[in-house]
Amino acid sequence: MELKPNSDNATSYRRKVVVVGAGAVGATFCYALAQSGLADDILIIDRNMDLARGQVLDLVHGQFFFPTTSIRVGTPADYSDAQVVVITAGAAQRPGQTRLELLQQNAVIVGGIASEVAASNCRGVILVVTNPVDVLTYVALKRSGWDRRRVIGSGTVLDSARFRHLLSTSCQVDVHNVHAYILGEHGDSEFAAWSMTHIAGTPISQYCELCGGCGDWEAHQQRIEQQVRDSAYHIIDYKGSTQFAVGLAMVRITGALLRGQNSVLTVSTLLEGEFGIRDVCLSVPCIVSEGGVRKIVESQLSAKELSSLSSSSVILKAAASHIGL
Ligand code: NAD
Repeated sequence: MELKPNSDNATSYRRKVVVVGAGAVGATFCYALAQSGLADDILIIDRNMDLARGQVLDLVHGQFFFPTTSIRVGTPADYSDAQVVVITAGAAQRPGQTRLELLQQNAVIVGGIASEVAASNCRGVILVVTNPVDVLTYVALKRSGWDRRRVIGSGTVLDSARFRHLLSTSCQVDVHNVHAYILGEHGDSEFAAWSMTHIAGTPISQYCELCGGCGDWEAHQQRIEQQVRDSAYHIIDYKGSTQFAVGLAMVRITGALLRGQNSVLTVSTLLEGEFGIRDVCLSVPCIVSEGGVRKIVESQLSAKELSSLSSSSVILKAAASHIGL
């Protein structure tokens, strides 16, 4: 005999994530998200239907090994009850191509998707990953007409993870115990917020004096910062695209959104006067929870860092004006 669910227990609330773009980044994200158990439903959309079907088939064959998650090919009708719509659709960065060069091509794609999501009356959050992510977050925000809290970009969450990895290796401290952020543009003008960097509650400059392991610390600092900035170029030169670490960064952001975690993450968000900057999306420390960015943390930056943030904003505004925004 089949048992009927008690209507009190038959909950209709499902954590639904729609992923638009089933290429390297979208598929890796879906793989990592399925393993995380954070989502009940993962819907995959791509303009290349065969690719979407193939990725779904490949993933569902792993369902036996995942926590229970439904993975299906989606359509724009799936936007309406999604908690998170993740946009990875677009062209990938090619060797030697800057992120800003991709802009015009990807603005049309991301703007179109954001308009469709908004038209569906979706009440969730749009997470933009397609590059150049900061300007495209701004495009998605404008085209959706949504409140700034609900349209965010993956920003420098990945770059901050790269920074922590390099510091962890250099200082020989567990990466989980290194607190460090990359701010500004996800791209060439990004910078390390050294004034916010600490290990065991000790500012990095003091930690370095105590440790003394790297000799010329200032030169070492510059090398690490440059390595973070160049990371994507190196990986793209080796293998054509980046996918694994960004996929995990996306799971981290999606988890904060789905579970209302109030996580401090350097997502790309619209500034409206914070840090003296207005009308541009870039990465600063944000509290990310259900509903998107709950709060922008106006951390105390050094004068040099504030000037770097302002330089990023000038570059990003110029890029936005290139596409008439
Ligand atoms: P990819 O070429 O493998 O995949 C892109 C997919 O988008 C393709 O399958 C394509 O068919 C699909 N697509 C294009 N237009 C579409 C549309 N209108 N609707 C639905 N699907 C559409 O590229 P990738 O390696 O997966 O990278 C995707 C994007 O992510 C790129 O812009 C890349 O630069 C960016 N990226 C961002 C970060 C970050 O930290 N923000 C890191 C890595 C890559």
